[in-house]
Amino acid sequence: MTARDGDGWIECACGSKHWGKHGAAGLLIIRDGSVFLQHRAPWVHNGDTWGIPGGARDSHETIIEGAIREAVEETGIKPEDLQPVHTFTDDHEGWSYSTVIAFANENLEGHELNDESHEVRWVKFDDVTRLPLHPSFAKTWPLIRQCVDDLIAPR
Ligand SMILES: [Zn+2]
Repeated sequence: MTARDGDGWIECACGSKHWGKHGAAGLLIIRDGSVFLQHRAPWVHNGDTWGIPGGARDSHETIIEGAIREAVEETGIKPEDLQPVHTFTDDHEGWSYSTVIAFANENLEGHELNDESHEVRWVKFDDVTRLPLHPSFAKTWPLIRQCVDDLIAPR
């Protein structure tokens, strides 16, 4: 097993502290007009909010590998049930959070697997902002939604 070397806080140029020494990545899973969201436990950083599974990237893994690994660890999804289609990167000059947008097939199923994860749920695109969202996710969601709309738009 390769060492996890991404865990840790960094002081970012934007003035905030972020988790993930080599940046962080999350997985935004889409199916039938809904997005797969995770309710984070109250005791984690920015807890009791909704967001996407994800976390610190390790230096030896790609953005997509990191996003999928975290989602598997947190929700037990199977990578073969999804197809990454686009990566949206929020670049903070030196640090970045990448959101990997992936389409799920009908077999994909997630569970609350570890204690950072309270509940998982499919949420309709239009209902996402009705939930108390993780601040970073709340900030990028409108931009990601734009990407998603473009990706699923009939051509
Ligand atoms: Zn930052």
